Amino acid sequence: MSKKIDETEPDQEDDPPFEPRTIVIRKDPKSLSSLYHIMEDKELGRGKFGTVCKCKEKATSRILAAKTINIKRPQDRKEVENEIDVMRHLQHPRLLQLYDAFDDGTNMILITELVAGGELFERVIDDEFILTENVCKIFMRQICEGVEFMHTKSVIHLDMKPENILCVTQSGNRVKLIDFGLARHYDPAVEVKVMFGTPEFVAPEVVNFERITPATDMWSVGVICYILLSGLSPFMGDNDAETLSNVTQAEWDFNDESFDEISADAKDFITKLLIKDPAKRMTAKDCLNHKWLKQAKTVAAAKDSNKALSKVKLKRFVIRRRWQKAVNAILALRRMGASIGVAGK
Ligand code: ATP
Repeated sequence: MSKKIDETEPDQEDDPPFEPRTIVIRKDPKSLSSLYHIMEDKELGRGKFGTVCKCKEKATSRILAAKTINIKRPQDRKEVENEIDVMRHLQHPRLLQLYDAFDDGTNMILITELVAGGELFERVIDDEFILTENVCKIFMRQICEGVEFMHTKSVIHLDMKPENILCVTQSGNRVKLIDFGLARHYDPAVEVKVMFGTPEFVAPEVVNFERITPATDMWSVGVICYILLSGLSPFMGDNDAETLSNVTQAEWDFNDESFDEISADAKDFITKLLIKDPAKRMTAKDCLNHKWLKQAKTVAAAKDSNKALSKVKLKRFVIRRRWQKAVNAILALRRMGASIGVAGK
């Protein structure tokens, strides 16, 4: 039987997973194993930088997540310290909460809340899940709430992509943003440029090595929304160079038949994000005030948006990203092997 998501908001309480904590990086090599049991057989995910497993706090039996990042260069340590510092500032129900942090010399380990529902796009493509425009609104609203909070705290995420949006549970409709590994504190008085990100989601100013601002995240929010509604990736080329070139041209459209069923308000929402000039894009606050997302609160009123959307293209998209992730993981392992080889010489 098909499962329809509860479209009343919010589906459950947004209690924090634990009381806010003061995080100090623990450096005693024995402290991790004395306080936590990392369940290496219960892997939750893997990225370019870390492996994430379930873990249990010994004193409380609380189940959490542990992200282990291998430190090969002093720069790696600085980057994880930055991730921890950013997370200290981000106490919000839509953002992954940090519980503890360790540095044993070889690895840095971040203990965070467990977000048990898996990646949003994986959940959405499940045969039992009915995707409607209303459901997309509910997810996009929460994504914008998380981004808005980050931006009010002067943090830019810089790696907004579907893999970094997780469902809190396997049946509810709450989501959380994760992975602050590339996030930066933002000071309007300081010009910062970066040269990283995921080609399909990255904003033109990143590709052009121009100044980044909170608007840089908003471009990626627009790309995520476009994909969620249509299953199509607006700037995807045959290779990374072509994708990046498509991004800098910032040319895209709603010509595909997938958009036939999509409302004018949804299209207006995307149109106001995928704008080459960052200053002209909607902010996260503007998004929350946009009529499309405002309707998310009164979903019953928008009956036309209750039709099930085709997920054929979205499934293809998710399968392609899975492959890409697997290839990235192999490349990361190879790099690790190479650096161990060098260190052993
Ligand atoms: P990337 O290559 O995207 O930069 P990363 O190495 O920084 O990744 P994360 O994105 O933090 O690592 O985590 C990798 C994967 O592990 C996520 O995509 C997600 O599926 C899973 N994951 C991460 N944190 C949690 C958590 N707290 N609870 C459950 N699963 C998680």
